[in-house]
Amino acid sequence: MSGGQPAADCIFCRIARGEIPARKVYEDEDVIAFNDIQPQAPVHLLVIPRQHVASLYEAGAAQHAAFGKMLALAGTLARQAGAADGFRIIVNTGRVGHQEVYHVHMHILGGPDPLGPMLSRRKPA
Ligand code: 5GP
Ligand code: ZN
Repeated sequence: MSGGQPAADCIFCRIARGEIPARKVYEDEDVIAFNDIQPQAPVHLLVIPRQHVASLYEAGAAQHAAFGKMLALAGTLARQAGAADGFRIIVNTGRVGHQEVYHVHMHILGGPDPLGPMLSRRKPA
């Protein structure tokens, strides 16, 4: 599943097409940003490319513009959502990365309170 083909049953493609409602905060011809349905922090946005790309493993040169835009928008979107004093970007990828939705998405997570360490510390199994 590489970039390009819209996936009929992909939930984020359906949001991009307007078939499923989402609390959008930004959209243009390349990217869409909306609130996560199950926020893990006071500010929790998702930013996606319009084009279906399953994960970062499938990404390539065709995504340079959209992915660059996603990152370049992050500060503005975070500030507008109320995270003016810092935020974190996460792109979960694949099984080990606990990716649940296979359409690349960038989480923007923010306070007001500090988010804590990047990974929870746990003893090796
Ligand atoms: P992942 O683990 O794949 O990085 O995260 C997927 C994220 O998508 C989760 O934080 C989940 O709450 C969010 N999500 C899943 N389905 C929907 C939906 O239909 N609408 C919105 N707004 N967020 C969703
Ligand atoms: Zn998709």
